[in-house]
Amino acid sequence: MDTEVLVLKDPEDPEIIDKAAKVIARGGLVAFPTETVYGLGANGLDERAVAKIYEAKGRPNDNPMILHVSSLEMCERLVKNIPKEAKDCMDMFWPGPLTMIFEKKDLIPDRVSAGLPTVAIRMPSDRFARGMIAKADLPVAAPSANTSGRPSPTKASHVLEDMAGKIDLIIDGGSTEVGIESTVLDMTVKPPMLLRPGGVTLEDLKALLKDVDVDPSLLGGEPKEVLHPKSPGQKYKHYAPKADCLLFGGNLKNIAKEVDRRIRENPDKKIAVLATEETMDFYQEKPYLLLNMGSRDHLEEVAHNIFDDLRHCDEEEVDLIFVEGFDFQGMGQGIMNRLLKACGGKVVLGL
Ligand code: AMP
Ligand code: MG
Repeated sequence: MDTEVLVLKDPEDPEIIDKAAKVIARGGLVAFPTETVYGLGANGLDERAVAKIYEAKGRPNDNPMILHVSSLEMCERLVKNIPKEAKDCMDMFWPGPLTMIFEKKDLIPDRVSAGLPTVAIRMPSDRFARGMIAKADLPVAAPSANTSGRPSPTKASHVLEDMAGKIDLIIDGGSTEVGIESTVLDMTVKPPMLLRPGGVTLEDLKALLKDVDVDPSLLGGEPKEVLHPKSPGQKYKHYAPKADCLLFGGNLKNIAKEVDRRIRENPDKKIAVLATEETMDFYQEKPYLLLNMGSRDHLEEVAHNIFDDLRHCDEEEVDLIFVEGFDFQGMGQGIMNRLLKACGGKVVLGL
């Protein structure tokens, strides 16, 4: 299949919105920008269209998808009941990077929910995404537009790497703003439970809702065999670059010393170090690649860059990646969730 790429200069370009909406309506696949990462979209009410997403991504069948809506009215058409806490979250965070889980109505194919009685819904703030969904007048099922297991795409070039020849259309809207996926909050339990940290932080949620539980599998990085995540997607190796990746936690100067030591120990390896604005000068040895993920005082910057940095390491075909860790606070929680998965849980802590 030929994959067409259209460059978006104006997020409300009516011709491109119309074209993308038509591909969705006829059961095709469109990769499109959202404020979190690029999504791979299909008509969320069309079982066969949704099956094509699983195929293009190589996504495990038991990993359900998020339905993206352009209005509250569209959301009401899809779910049985919207609790008061969810309404408050919609007022506060929609449109935006918050996905909520509801009891689903029967019109949603089992393929979307992977057989669960619930469905995940989000209203993106990206103007193109919302325009396309509104024009198609259909909920758009859209996981991240990467091959399953690889780092999520934050630029159209990332999508092209993984999806060229497999999908109908890629909308190139530049690099995405947030850079990590949406927060997932389960509204079918009381109190609501955080299943995946993301663009809306736990602190943001706690400031609005009286109580928020956190899926125990998100805490403490226990082996996944012991704690079963409630969000099926969280159990898979994810966001992983091709190289072996190791995460370091502790005092930042000690991390740099330990990384320096490991660089000296591995003279024949191509090594990448993912550092931060504040620590770039701490490293004495010169690795093959030294990347600045952003400032520790502006973790949004780090979130914006991490997937691009991991893909950069793949492009350079490095053998080993050493990454600095962050505190599990604010955006740090979402960043650490992605980095731990990228490293397959391999960490050196307490430095
Ligand atoms: P993504 O592939 O980034 O779109 O991920 C969507 C995330 O939402 C995955 O971790 C899914 O497992 C999770 N998810 C989707 N639907 C549900 C659901 N009904 N219940 C729990 N988690 C869900
Ligand atoms: Mg994904």
